[in-house]
Amino acid sequence: MGAKNVNAAGLLTSRGPVRKPFAAYVSCSDSRVPPELLLGRGLGELFIVGNAGDTLDVAAMYSLEFAVSVLDVPLIVVMGHEGCGAVSAARSVVTKGKRLCSGHR
Ligand SMILES: [Zn+2]
Repeated sequence: MGAKNVNAAGLLTSRGPVRKPFAAYVSCSDSRVPPELLLGRGLGELFIVGNAGDTLDVAAMYSLEFAVSVLDVPLIVVMGHEGCGAVSAARSVVTKGKRLCSGHR
């Protein structure tokens, strides 16, 4: 990424380089596990599909399909993490019959 494509805040400008991520990265939304920082990557290098608990719902699957078929991303990484609150909550629904959200089981 050339310096002329980055503004003072370090963000890409609209005239930045063509986006060409080398991996699609399915990640938890947990702010303690930011993919670019964990992998030492910059803006535009990862196509991130993030949601609580790394779930692969229809929207996530279409996002991955877009990454592979349109952006030609050759690699999909699904990365979980320790102490995931979303996974713990989902497990308590199954093992303890708790409600995840009102109206949902
Ligand atoms: Zn998590």
